[in-house]
Amino acid sequence: MRKVLFALFFSFLIVAVSQAAPGGGVRCGRLVDVRTGRLLENQLISFDADGTITSVAPAGSSLPSGTIDLAKATCLPGLIDVHTHITGDPSHSGYAGLGISVPRSAVTGAKNARLTLMAGFTTVRNVGAAGYSDVAVRDGINAGEIPGPRMFVSGPPLGITGGHCDDNLLPSEYHHVAEGVADGPWAARAKVREVIKYGADVIKICASGGVLSKGDQPGTPQYTLEEMTAIAEEAHKLGRKVAAHAHGTQSIKDAIRAGIDSIEHSSLIDDEGIALAKQHGTYLVFDIYNDDYILQMGEKAGMLAESIEKEKKIGRLQRENFRKAFKAGAKIAFGTDSGVYPHGDNAKQFGKMVEWGMKPIDAIQAATINAADLIGVKAGAIEAGNFADIIAVDGNPLENAPVLENVKFVLKGGAVARNDFAAK
Ligand SMILES: [Zn+2]
Repeated sequence: MRKVLFALFFSFLIVAVSQAAPGGGVRCGRLVDVRTGRLLENQLISFDADGTITSVAPAGSSLPSGTIDLAKATCLPGLIDVHTHITGDPSHSGYAGLGISVPRSAVTGAKNARLTLMAGFTTVRNVGAAGYSDVAVRDGINAGEIPGPRMFVSGPPLGITGGHCDDNLLPSEYHHVAEGVADGPWAARAKVREVIKYGADVIKICASGGVLSKGDQPGTPQYTLEEMTAIAEEAHKLGRKVAAHAHGTQSIKDAIRAGIDSIEHSSLIDDEGIALAKQHGTYLVFDIYNDDYILQMGEKAGMLAESIEKEKKIGRLQRENFRKAFKAGAKIAFGTDSGVYPHGDNAKQFGKMVEWGMKPIDAIQAATINAADLIGVKAGAIEAGNFADIIAVDGNPLENAPVLENVKFVLKGGAVARNDFAAK
């Protein structure tokens, strides 16, 4: 009898321990409500052991033990960048990139994943990587082997022969073709199936020419409407969204009509393209910070002379069209093309978005609720049921967006990645 009682006692104890497994809490002196644009005072955010937010409420006079106290800071949801190239660096541009192996780029990705997380970006969508190096980085992060943001990755981007997503640096005798090249609707469908087989969460394609590729023009179409319709249909059938690189006016419209989910760059979008994006609910992603970097540092970084010339023609137009699309009410998600400029500087785009027509809250919404909606992730707002992804800064980002360039606290899924407030 005694033994049975002991056994019962211990089994109760085990149940009690596992139920009481520690989650945690963060008290924020101020909290940006990203849906309303209001600043809430003195809030306590609680989360469970799985790193999911369970409640957000005014903090009482005494805090539960173990609460992280950020009484002097302003908290926001972890930021989201929907257009990164985490396995690449600016120094990999042009011919230098040919000397970098896929395994080597995965190591670069591990370095950049950490920099991105420390800068306050707790989720990223990585759209284009050599081989499946981004799949490897994602899996390493998810296994707890390296620090980094929650990653949604594409693997190699799909494109036409000789297009922006091919690699056109070597002459024909090398027979070099980038992994994502697929011409024609059925080859493109097969490529969608292939990248999903090897781990893609999202499909990246090149609809038009680009800036950093050799021998093409940003404004000219590459994938046809027919090819993109096949890609979108195949990807959606298999539960994946499609991001289309499209600078060109015609390609933007073709991609939207094909049912693509987001238009990357969107540089030469016209009024009809903006109207189509609104009608289809397509997200537009304008990477309007990196123009500064390309023009100032591109040559030093080894970018092709033609790339810098192309950027000179397109950079300002992209910013003007960003302002136009935003004013017209198109859906905009925050994406920066990190890797074109150094990783960790992602938040420098907030200031540009304000300079070109947004209020700080609009830019913050692009990098939180809008980006989360595009990716389809339970993040982007500090609300029960979402991942406990919280960042904190000094100052008020609703008045001064560039304070987001100095993130001092990062919590990802309930785990502290950075806390400069505690160091004081
Ligand atoms: Zn890109």
